[in-house]
Parts: sequence; C-alpha cells; structure tokens
Amino acid sequence: MEQNETKHGGISIELEHIFPIIKKWLYSEKEIFIREIVSNACDAVTKLNRLVSLGEAKDTDVSKPRIDVELDPDAATITVTDNGIGMTAEETEKYLGQIALSGALDFIQKYEGDEGDSSSTGIIGHFGLGFYSAFMVSDSVDVITKSYNGAPAVKWTCDDGGSYDMEEQFDGWEDYLDGRGTSVVMHINDEGREYLSENKLKEILDKYCSFMPIEIFFRRADNEKKEDEEEKPINDTSPLWQKNPSECTDDEYKVFYRKVFHDYREPLFQIHLKADYPLIFRGILYFPKITGEYESLEGQVKLFYNQVFVADNIKEVIPEYLLMLKGVLDCPELPLNVSRSYLQNSGYVSKISSHITKKVADKLNSMFTSEREHYENVWRDIKTFVEYGCMRDRKFYDKINQSVIYEKCSGGFTTLDEYLEGAKKTHENKVYYANDKAAQAKYISMLEAEGIEVVLLDKFIDTQFISTVEQNREGVKFCRVDAEVADVLKDGEKVREYPEVKELFRRIAGDGVKIVFGSFKDKTTPAILNVSEESRRFDDMMKIYSPSSASIPLESTLTLNTASPIIGKLDEKCSDDPEASEKIAREIFSLCKLTQRRLTSDEMKDFLDLSYELIGLL
Ligand code: ADP
Repeated sequence: MEQNETKHGGISIELEHIFPIIKKWLYSEKEIFIREIVSNACDAVTKLNRLVSLGEAKDTDVSKPRIDVELDPDAATITVTDNGIGMTAEETEKYLGQIALSGALDFIQKYEGDEGDSSSTGIIGHFGLGFYSAFMVSDSVDVITKSYNGAPAVKWTCDDGGSYDMEEQFDGWEDYLDGRGTSVVMHINDEGREYLSENKLKEILDKYCSFMPIEIFFRRADNEKKEDEEEKPINDTSPLWQKNPSECTDDEYKVFYRKVFHDYREPLFQIHLKADYPLIFRGILYFPKITGEYESLEGQVKLFYNQVFVADNIKEVIPEYLLMLKGVLDCPELPLNVSRSYLQNSGYVSKISSHITKKVADKLNSMFTSEREHYENVWRDIKTFVEYGCMRDRKFYDKINQSVIYEKCSGGFTTLDEYLEGAKKTHENKVYYANDKAAQAKYISMLEAEGIEVVLLDKFIDTQFISTVEQNREGVKFCRVDAEVADVLKDGEKVREYPEVKELFRRIAGDGVKIVFGSFKDKTTPAILNVSEESRRFDDMMKIYSPSSASIPLESTLTLNTASPIIGKLDEKCSDDPEASEKIAREIFSLCKLTQRRLTSDEMKDFLDLSYELIGLL
C-alpha cells in the first residue's frame, strides 16, 4: 500500500510577538519577579555546590555562597548578584535567548541522570520562564555573568521588546562579580516603580525569599556599608520545618510561629510533618489559639516549593478544613507549572491531603488518650476545627470520632460513648443538649435533678456537626432540652384536663401551637413550650440558605403542668375573673417563649408592660 507523504514540522514562535504576551499574562502578580530572579541565583549557587561535590569544579574556587540584592533608587535599578555557577557566552545565548528552555532541566539531566528530579537536587527552576518575569517590571535587563569554568565574562542586554545584544568578552565584570557568578541588573520601568521603595522591596523579599536556602543580603546603593557592623542575611536558610522533629524544641516552634505569622499569642500545639516516601514533603501545622467567639477562623497555610514561597492558602493542595490552621508546607514535588484545575484532580494532591489528615488525626488521638487533661483544656479552641473537618471529610471523621468530646453543662467533658453508656437506662441512644445555658437553665436543672447529663452545644457549627454524627451513628439522636418533655420528668400521676384553661391558651398561643396537659415532678413550672427538634433544625437551615423567606410553621407543643398549683388556680380564675386569668396565661406563655428564643420587640414591650401591671397588683 502506498503511503501518503507526510511532512513533519514544529510550531515556531516569533519572539517579538510572544514577549508582550509573556510580560502581560505569564504571572498574575508582578511582584513575583523577585522570587524568580532570586530563585535563579539560588539555583546557580546550588549547581556550583553540586559540581564541587562531584569533583567537576575545584573546591578552592568556592567562596562563601551568597546572593546580594541591591536597590539603587536614583538609577532606578534592582540588581541581584550571585557567586554561583555563572554562564559562558554560549550558555547565555542558549538559556536566556530561548524562552522556555530551562537550563535547570538540562543540568538535572546531565548531572543527576534520568532518575534525578528537582525535588532531590533542591534546584528550584524547571519551567524555563522565570527569568522573563523581570520584564514585567523592567525596560531592559543586563546580565553580567562569568562561568566557573574560566571562560570570559559576558554582558548580555535585552530590551522589553525581546531584542538583545551580547558582549562576549566583557572587561568590566569585576565591578559586578567576585570571581565568578551572575549579576542581573533590572532597569525598572513605570509599572515597577513601587519596587524602588526600600520598604516595598524588602516586603516582597521577605514574603518570597525568607527561607531560601542561600544567604541573601540586602543593600541600598546609596548607603555606605558600615564596616564594624556585621552583615545579616534577610533569610533563614535552614527553616525549622527542614529539621528533624526530634531535634526541635518547643521553644523553637513558638519562635518560628511568631516570626512567620506575626501572632504573639502562643499556638496551642503543633504537628511537624515529615514524609519521605512515597511522597516527599515537610511542614509544620499549628493550632492557633482562638480567643473570641466571633474571631475569624481563617488560618494561613503557606505553601513552599524547595523553601521558596509560592502562595498562601492554596485550597487545591490543602484540604479546606486545614486552612483554618496556621502553618507551612514545603512540597518539592508539586507540579507548580500546571493549572489549578489539574491540581484539583491530580492524585498527588489527594495523597498529600490524606497524609496530612492522618497525621492531624493521629496527633489529636494521641493527645486524647495520653494527655486527656491538656486535651480538654484546649478543646474549646480546637473543636470548631475538628467538627468542621469531620463534616467535610468522612475519612477524618472515621479516624477522629472516638476523640470528639462534649462539654457537659454540669462541668467536665464526656465522649459520645461515655454519654450513651450513662444514658442506657433513662434515655437510650438520646443525647440531651442545650445551646444557651442561661435561657435553658430551668430545663437543664430539671434534667440534671433526674441524673441526666446535658451537653453544651452552643456554637453555630455544633448543630450541623450533630447531624453528621447522627448520619454516622445509627440510632443516635440529639435532642435539645426544650424540644420535648423527657419521660423522666413526668411524675406518673394521672393527668387532669382543664378544658377552659386549654381554650384560654389556645387563644393566646394561636392555632400553630398544640396544647396538652402533663404532670411533672417539678411543681414550680406551670408550662413548658417545646419545639420539635426536626422542625427547628429545618427552620434553622432554611434561614441559612434563604434568609429572606418566611419562617415555616414550627411544630410547637405547650404542655401545661397539672402538678403545678398555678394551673388549678388558673382554672378557678377562668370563671371568677376571666380578665385576670387571661393576663396570667399571657404572662406564662411569654415566659415559655423566653426560654426558646429572643422575643421580638413588640413581644418584649407587651411582656414588660404586662409584668409591671401584674407586679402593680401588690
Ligand atoms: P528556569 O530557572 O525555570 O530553568 P529561567 O527562565 O528562570 O528558567 O532561566 C533560564 C535559564 O537561565 C536557567 O535554567 C539557567 O540555566 C539560566 N540562568 C538564569 N539565571 C541564572 C543565574 N543567576 N546564574 C546562572 N544561570 C542562570
């Protein structure tokens, strides 16, 4: 069979067309030019170190590795200089003259073999684009570079249209370099003007370069170096997360936390993550102290790539509920050059997530079993996180649910299992809870008088959390103390009906409220208003999802306590003094409502007027 002739070709790119596009669209934020240029400088030093260790470069050549960032506001330049590997003329042309040709990948393939990857070498670059980010803030860029191999120094100058000149034998290099290395001089344009401010430049250096692995020094060109003052690098080259957890002290964790998060409150505790197989990543996650009820629970998890800051709170990499924590995560294998939607679907990310989830759960479980007192002390601060995590991630729930504890209104804490064990005889599989200790005090004390514990679930998230527990624990039901009259509260006496009293309350409470009679052990309370757990929860949910929609009718029941002498007296009053009986009944109903919810302003006004009128009868 005769084959059609095919022609093979490659899509060619005209530099002058692609350059403006790169400048405009490559990076969402201009400021990351500093990250890219300083990372390249780090790589240059790392490469040189590697060559020395391989015997390819001479040891004696190596002066102390360093990077200098110099700001010259008058000349409008920012210069980044390293004493790393440098480039020959040929390399300069190859690596800087061709977009997307990464010298980092070339290097890894040459010296680390096929197996080598950037995660094991510590080399940051690999996309071959970073250098061009300098043009987002520069009219032109000069590169003065001298290779470690002794080749003549080169000066390469490129304008923002992408055309360059190269001086292959540049004699003035010693003004820039100490023996070897590379100096990148960015002539800052109008768009980059803000970075000529010392504070701003320091701020972005601090943001992106604080933990880069080579010492970085900042200098202003117009500041004479003071001889007697010791130079201090702006970065910490061996951040705590890279150390072995067994070598870190509690104090070091705290100092690191303060430094990174500028939070002067001490964190509650931390988890040091260190994974080497099958994934490589390091990190420290802190549980912050939450002081106010309404404090935002938004944490901050900083993502690093080989000690280079990438971004805060990347939800594609870190499980959403972990973003409530504060911490650092260094993922040298993270494929940063791919889109966020890829990250979301990549197996790598879900593996990181599940590893972290497991570590967090292990830590909490071990605190629960071996340091229960401490665990109980911090529970109020961590519970929102734990509950939210359980709701968002079934695996987390499965790992942690035995260590979830509930605060008892009577003091102390209980687990669900401990509670249910104690509930077996009186209210099997049912958990009584209060969400407002003050408003529901009467109900709480009635139950406690019968030996029934009431747990306190007073946070907004609690009600959603208990639905999660109910879904996962067959048969278990949570019931708010005012949702029903517990059987144990009834005294077992025969219940008398008072038709007139019933009619009176029916008129006051309206048709939506069911009126029944009961006889309670507690004789002081004339009536209890209950709203069924389901209808109240449904109503709460509706309020979240469509706050403007009208409330649904709640399934309410008013139980009149015939054991209370008030109900009997009220019955007598109904015929003797209907007006007074009506007032008393209205007062009782208002008091019942008060235990359920806040009164509306009209209700509150009526309630106060009526109360004072009744007091006035004295
Ligand atoms: P990447 O760093 O992702 O490979 P860049 O566009 O940032 O891509 O840089 C392209 C190449 O230019 C680098 O891989 C490296 O070979 C070379 N290069 C850039 N900066 C320096 C430097 N300071 N010293 C030596 N070589 C450098």
